[in-house]
Amino acid sequence: MLMVLRSLARSGVAGVREWTGANVLAIVALLLFAGRGRIPDVLSIDVANLLFLCAPALMHAGFERHLGRAAPYRALAALVAASTVALGIFHYGVDAMAVRVALSSFFHGIVCVAMARGLRPSAHASRARYPIRFAFGAALTLAGAHAVRALMYASHLDAKVTMFDSSPVNLVCFALGTLALPGLTLGAVMMANAGLIGQARYAAEHDHLTGAWSRRAFFGRAERAHADAVRAGGALSLLILDVDHFKAINDTHGHAVGDRVLADLVARTDAVLRGDACARLGGEEFAVLLPHSDSDAAVHLADELRRTLERATVPGAGGAVVLYTVSVGVASLDDGESLASLLQRADAALYAAKRGGRNRVEC
Ligand code: GH3
Ligand code: MG
Ligand code: MG
Repeated sequence: MLMVLRSLARSGVAGVREWTGANVLAIVALLLFAGRGRIPDVLSIDVANLLFLCAPALMHAGFERHLGRAAPYRALAALVAASTVALGIFHYGVDAMAVRVALSSFFHGIVCVAMARGLRPSAHASRARYPIRFAFGAALTLAGAHAVRALMYASHLDAKVTMFDSSPVNLVCFALGTLALPGLTLGAVMMANAGLIGQARYAAEHDHLTGAWSRRAFFGRAERAHADAVRAGGALSLLILDVDHFKAINDTHGHAVGDRVLADLVARTDAVLRGDACARLGGEEFAVLLPHSDSDAAVHLADELRRTLERATVPGAGGAVVLYTVSVGVASLDDGESLASLLQRADAALYAAKRGGRNRVEC
């Protein structure tokens, strides 16, 4: 798991550092536990328990950071300190292994419950479902296992137990304990990967400046809309918009204000069309697909959009107010027409609108 996490070291994913730290601490803790009888008890009991609780605590901190919240380091540190004091009392005060096991499971259980609470899928509906459900399930299973173990040892406090007692329950607890961190880490890595895939997809499908669909996403969507229209025999229209004299806006007000105009155009177009409709084909040229719209409806919408943009104001430098207009070419799919031909006719209509004086719609 450490090696898998290493592959994410430079991904910039929030939480990876904490998850890595958790796995390192757990490895050290397990080695110390294994050294029982061969190394000083303070290492194999007190330090090992301390580090072993820090591992899920750091996992929890990593999940919280990954989910965009602050890691509750203070609360976790207080919990770890309380656990260390409690375990110390039942090591140096009364040396009672069963109490230590019960207490240790109790503290681990608290961390796992907090972790599961933060990971509950209902609170993260926008995330990829499987990874978060997996991590949530792992945290919940562990919380349950620790609860059972804590209760079991708490009810037999006088029983003689050893760490490597081979009773079935102890074996189950050991197995779960062994799988705990790898299970949680697997969930964490899946969440990180899902996040990276989502980011990469968003970046490929959207224009960074305006948030409009990218040219690549537009063509994918246009092909699907065309195939749907052909299959169902429905209408499909296409608008191509181009900002009028945009070069002059750049030259007069500067490139940054030009950028603002492009972002404004996309925001207003999406508002008029009630959805993420606008795609940036390049420069100051945009496309809007209108499935189920015939030519009349498309022209009507295009003109509504043109009038909305004509009234739009964009703040320029030094309190200036910048106005802009667009020319729009509209084409509607003919029977048996290809997508390329539809695009070409919309483009021709756009150039007719430019030749006709700009700030107008041509079909
Ligand atoms: P027309 O009315 O004929 O469309 O004239 P125009 O000036 O809008 O067209 P032209 O093609 O001459 O100029 C487009 C300008 O758009 C040139 C280019 O520098 C500018 N441009 C392209 N991409 C961006 C961008 O991302 N931001 C800004 N600010 N300007 C851009
Ligand atoms: Mg232009
Ligand atoms: Mg242009």
